[in-house]
Amino acid sequence: MKTVKFGGTSLASAEMMKHCADILKMDDARRFVVVSAPGKRSSDDIKVTDLLYRIYSEVLNDYDPEPTLLLIYERFREIVEGLEIDFDLEKEFDEIRSQLNHDINVNWLASRGEYLNAKIFACYLGWPFIDAKDLIIFKQNHLLSHHLTYKTAGAILSDFSHAVIPGFYGADTHGVITTFSRGGSDVTGAVIARSVGADLYENWTDVSGVMTADPRIIDHPKQVKWISYRELRELSYMGASVLHEDAILPIRSTGIPIQIRNTMDPEAEGTMIVSKYPVDMHQHPVTGIAGKTGFSNLQIEMALMNTQVGFGARILEICAEYGISYEHTPTSIDIISVIAETSYFENCRREIIMKIDQEFHPDKLFIEDGMALVTVVGEGISTNVGVAAKVLQIISNAGINVRMIDAGCSELNIIIGINETDYEKTIRALYDGLHEYF
Ligand code: ADP
Ligand code: ASP
Ligand code: MG
Repeated sequence: MKTVKFGGTSLASAEMMKHCADILKMDDARRFVVVSAPGKRSSDDIKVTDLLYRIYSEVLNDYDPEPTLLLIYERFREIVEGLEIDFDLEKEFDEIRSQLNHDINVNWLASRGEYLNAKIFACYLGWPFIDAKDLIIFKQNHLLSHHLTYKTAGAILSDFSHAVIPGFYGADTHGVITTFSRGGSDVTGAVIARSVGADLYENWTDVSGVMTADPRIIDHPKQVKWISYRELRELSYMGASVLHEDAILPIRSTGIPIQIRNTMDPEAEGTMIVSKYPVDMHQHPVTGIAGKTGFSNLQIEMALMNTQVGFGARILEICAEYGISYEHTPTSIDIISVIAETSYFENCRREIIMKIDQEFHPDKLFIEDGMALVTVVGEGISTNVGVAAKVLQIISNAGINVRMIDAGCSELNIIIGINETDYEKTIRALYDGLHEYF
């Protein structure tokens, strides 16, 4: 039995929905389907979820949300008309309008793209629609209540042979709608796969699998045929946005494989994401490269820092007080750096500097923006001597200045901090230079 998830591009129009329905019909094992909200039909299009968040900010700022709501209505009207189904869209939009006049829950609003798309797709397929709010349960802290969810969803879905389920959201124990982070329909797919005990989780998207590098930077990068859960999680966390990094968590202990497949090329074999590589498989030292821009370095320099027990802990505590979730904390004898997304410093830049200054009077203290992090990932990195040396050699040959190196305590990755302006150049240099390792 297979759980299937279709992404936003795969369900962006009536034409695409018909195509997805054909994919479902090709294989009777495809029984539980998770859907995203309509995504982009072309590069200049806007995702329905983005329009829904726009409505929320319009309401907050006292702008008229009606024009944006009409854009969303038009998208769904085109889909319903194209599918030639009898679906009461007016009623659904009346409900949204009436909610906008109340104290609106942003998560409820953001979830309406998935909710409507799933209802429409279910109507077209003639399959039952099951609302994710009854299946996916969040704790009050907005984290998924794993075991309660698997138990509840498993029990409810056991009464159905087929179902269409909206991705991206669930509800807390009081029934209040809660969402995963962006791209979270991938997580819903994994949760459903786990709950129904699927043999495979097929994730249908707009590329033929996980690529060894971001296809928006590298023209036709080599495709990854097999990748481990751990590698995928490292790569997706660091920017390989093809699958949400948390999609591994629900199935990690079960070993259910995930297959990434291309909706526009259903014959392509895609990528298998597995808990462990098959024993007889030749494993490449490096599986992929990924990266992200938008990081800052909070740096504190102070003579004899090494003698002050608890200094580093206190710096991290101050960061936590300001809600900063950090990525790396490289240290040297008299320097500690905290590397975190620049957005975390947006509203507390001055305060955090003042606080550290008052408490420690360091010799030097600054926040430097414009950093990018690039990671090279592979289960084979720890067992193949020289990969790290090669990575640094490639970067130095390309004339790129390294601001930080973290040889990953997972032994699975090497992370390099560079200037944002060198980001794409670094990815290209590593892709070209490491090709013998892929
Ligand atoms: P969906 O809407 O189906 O969930 P996403 O847009 O979330 O699809 O993810 C697919 C996109 O991920 C691709 O179109 C591609 O641009 C991007 N991407 C980034 N890095 C990678 C990578 N290493 N391999 C494949 N795709 C990647
Ligand atoms: N529609 C949501 C988003 O755009 C969730 C998803 O597509 O997975 O983030
Ligand atoms: Mg996605």
